[in-house]
Amino acid sequence: QPVTSIGASERVIKERSAEIIAGGSVFYNPVQEFNRDLSISVLNVFAKRFLKERAQSENVEFDDSTFVAGEKCENGLRILEALSATGLRSIRYAKEIAGVREIIANDLSKAAVASISENVRHNAVENLIVPSQSDAMTLMYLSTSNEKRFDVIDLDPYGCPNRFLDGALQSIANGGLLLVTATDMAVLAGNTPEACYAKYGCVPLRMKCCHEMALRILLHSIETHANRYGKYIEPLLSISADFYVRVFVRIHTGQAKCKYSMSKQSMIFQCTGCETFTLQPLGNVKVSTTDKGKSQTKFGIPTGPSVGTNCEHCGHKHHMGGPIWSNPIHDHGFVKELLQTIEERPLCELGTHRRLQGVLSVVQEELLDVPLYYVLDKLCCVLKLENVPVLKFRSALLHAGYRVSFSHASKNSIKTDAPTSVIWDILRCW
Ligand code: SAM
Repeated sequence: QPVTSIGASERVIKERSAEIIAGGSVFYNPVQEFNRDLSISVLNVFAKRFLKERAQSENVEFDDSTFVAGEKCENGLRILEALSATGLRSIRYAKEIAGVREIIANDLSKAAVASISENVRHNAVENLIVPSQSDAMTLMYLSTSNEKRFDVIDLDPYGCPNRFLDGALQSIANGGLLLVTATDMAVLAGNTPEACYAKYGCVPLRMKCCHEMALRILLHSIETHANRYGKYIEPLLSISADFYVRVFVRIHTGQAKCKYSMSKQSMIFQCTGCETFTLQPLGNVKVSTTDKGKSQTKFGIPTGPSVGTNCEHCGHKHHMGGPIWSNPIHDHGFVKELLQTIEERPLCELGTHRRLQGVLSVVQEELLDVPLYYVLDKLCCVLKLENVPVLKFRSALLHAGYRVSFSHASKNSIKTDAPTSVIWDILRCW
């Protein structure tokens, strides 16, 4: 990281297009460069989609050839970076995203906002960035009228983002993009279930697939917050990286669609002996046709395994956790476009270009209809087997006629639509 000291407590930090004077106690984390590179790439793809949709709905011509990064676009995105610290993220958004009208770089801390203002001047992006000192929640609650709403809201707090969700969901435009980071991984990974339930409304289980579980807990929490305001989420991309999770979700308005939310969440039953898990959706949806040819939708509560029943594989009792988001966590069409856009960019434009390509390539292969995953080492450990090579195990599943993929969240992960009995049978014969 190119860092130059310019005083006892000040340093100039260069990250891609931006130069930041970080002084005193203002927060700067170089490890988050991947997070910022990813967010910029996502927003460049999202901007085109969203602005095209908006132009079509208003019956005006759409021409993205006029979008230039660093230049104000009158019909472009209004972005709120609610917790901005040095303003680095906002400055990179201003300089590297095409199709931006305005970015509000907000922080509660006076020192942080002084730093944002200095950095905005230093990078000559006053045309796009408005520094703001306010409590993020108050700012969002004051921006719920149509003309004040944001097309994009970025929440990147310390720890849990939940107290900002109500405000964000009410101040985001229909179809807008919410970018949320959570760094309280110990809570999300099941170390303190009571804290996770209080914060995220979900009882986590201690599982090997805890990183994807963390993503699904966060998505569950955003969806349930959204439902209170007649809104629902559409996840475009959900990433577990380093010490945090980051989700990119579109927020749509639609009271009727909120009824489907129950069927997108599941409880999890995990065997206390062999750790086999089963998902139990909270609701099911049946669409049928009436005698008069009209389609009718019925919402029901399914039956399934329960805490009291014993595991069919080893006879132990189950632990029960959840609810978690059990619908797809990415939109593969979006990820494909994102990956193409990144591959077309010169390597030097994004510091974490290769890592982005690697992670997104795995994401593109992930089985979307298979929530969570097993970790092969753990399965081998249960059967007291020497470690089985992951590629050979994957081939065995493929030969048996099932689909299989990795998860970007763990390198030894097995996501498969094979029933767990097939997984155990293959391993027992190894
Ligand atoms: N997004 C920044 C980046 O990419 O470099 C990092 C943000 S840092 C993790 C969190 C920031 O949130 C701190 O600067 C802190 O002052 C600010 N903050 C904490 N509570 C806040 C609140 N209620 N409203 C606005 N800002 C707040």
